[in-house]
Amino acid sequence: MKYLNMKNEELNMEYNKLLDEYELYREKKLNIDMSRGKPSKEQLELSNDILNMKITDVEIDGFDIRNYGCLNGLPSARRLFADVFKVDESEIIIGGNSSLNLLHDLLMHFMLFPLASSCKPWCKYSEIKFLCPVPGYDRHFAILEKLGIKMVNVGMTREGPDMDQVENLVKKDNSVKGIICVPKYSNPTGITYSNDVINRLVNLKTKARDFVIIFDNAYSEHHLYGVHDTLVNCLDESKKSKYENRVYIFSSTSKMTFPGSGIAFIMSTEKNIERMKKWLSVETIGFDKVNQLRHALFFKNANGVVEHMKKHAEILRPKFKIVDQILTERLSGYDLASWSKPYGGYFISLDTLDGCAKKVIEMCKEAGITFTKAGTTFPYGLDPRDSNIRIAPSYLSMEELKTAIEILCLAIKIVSLENIRR
Ligand code: PLP
Repeated sequence: MKYLNMKNEELNMEYNKLLDEYELYREKKLNIDMSRGKPSKEQLELSNDILNMKITDVEIDGFDIRNYGCLNGLPSARRLFADVFKVDESEIIIGGNSSLNLLHDLLMHFMLFPLASSCKPWCKYSEIKFLCPVPGYDRHFAILEKLGIKMVNVGMTREGPDMDQVENLVKKDNSVKGIICVPKYSNPTGITYSNDVINRLVNLKTKARDFVIIFDNAYSEHHLYGVHDTLVNCLDESKKSKYENRVYIFSSTSKMTFPGSGIAFIMSTEKNIERMKKWLSVETIGFDKVNQLRHALFFKNANGVVEHMKKHAEILRPKFKIVDQILTERLSGYDLASWSKPYGGYFISLDTLDGCAKKVIEMCKEAGITFTKAGTTFPYGLDPRDSNIRIAPSYLSMEELKTAIEILCLAIKIVSLENIRR
């Protein structure tokens, strides 16, 4: 059924019917929040052994974990996660509880200190810019905005950022200092960058000599199905290029164990890691080795991570499936929205007709369903087409999720009809 092909009378009838349905939901005074991609309680339970763990051996790898030291992380934990992310032990630092914190710290550092002796710190330029594939992750945009870095939207294709656009933007403009990407199961599109995109990224010919590529690999291990996406090894690819020291990769166990109480990683070439260790040594005498040990004992080895993530997938998969099922049942054939069908990660990205997302989210809110604010997935909160909605299925129960998506579909139809009737 396509609204665009319907006569006015039919449109009015459909509109009134939908409004009646919407009213019934509104009267229920629901209160369902799906604004952030948080793991559910059931997922958190999977890691409870970390809470109950008794640590008897405190001398690990020649370090007493109760004492200061071991700035780049406990060797056994570093070995384990170097194996997970397929980098060398010398190419990874285990930080504190948050990868965003490490990312913020890195960018802050480049604002204040030059990347190379022949460059200026970024704060000495009248303007600096970062390329932001959109839709993207709001917290990345918040960091860049806070640091006064101008954000430039780059479109996404099915394979990752539009590389023709990226190549054009970087080749002549010395103020473009970097690009920030989620290369695997991207937030929110779920896209995994193709080998070709990674290859073109690490080989970018940029005007700026102090250009950096930030890969936030937050969803590296977060598959939903047995058949899953694979991402080429970004650090290896970068090391093969002319610009080997440009790439910084971040990740954490936030959505493996406990968000906010996990461990975070930064990975780069040995040269960059050695530089980072120098500045980190001024910030801290060392991160939380007790938690690093807990994580190493909990996972045991890289395969332990794989097996643990399968348990998360068991819980998450039905939620992603029900969202897709309801969207398909209620919206397919109407030409009012399109949405992603990711193989992993935490989000489904939905696009309404242009000019509808804000009103749809307001209508959902009126009916007691909180979605991430419209525009959130774009720099400065400005979605130029006002069409993108981020769906975060993880936290809600199946029943709540069904209700939320049914109301979303109703709101999409109502707002689209209002736009079409005008
Ligand atoms: N990076 C991305 C792409 C995310 O989606 C999230 C959380 O939603 C984070 C980072 C947060 O990571 P952390 O908890 O390690 O700071």
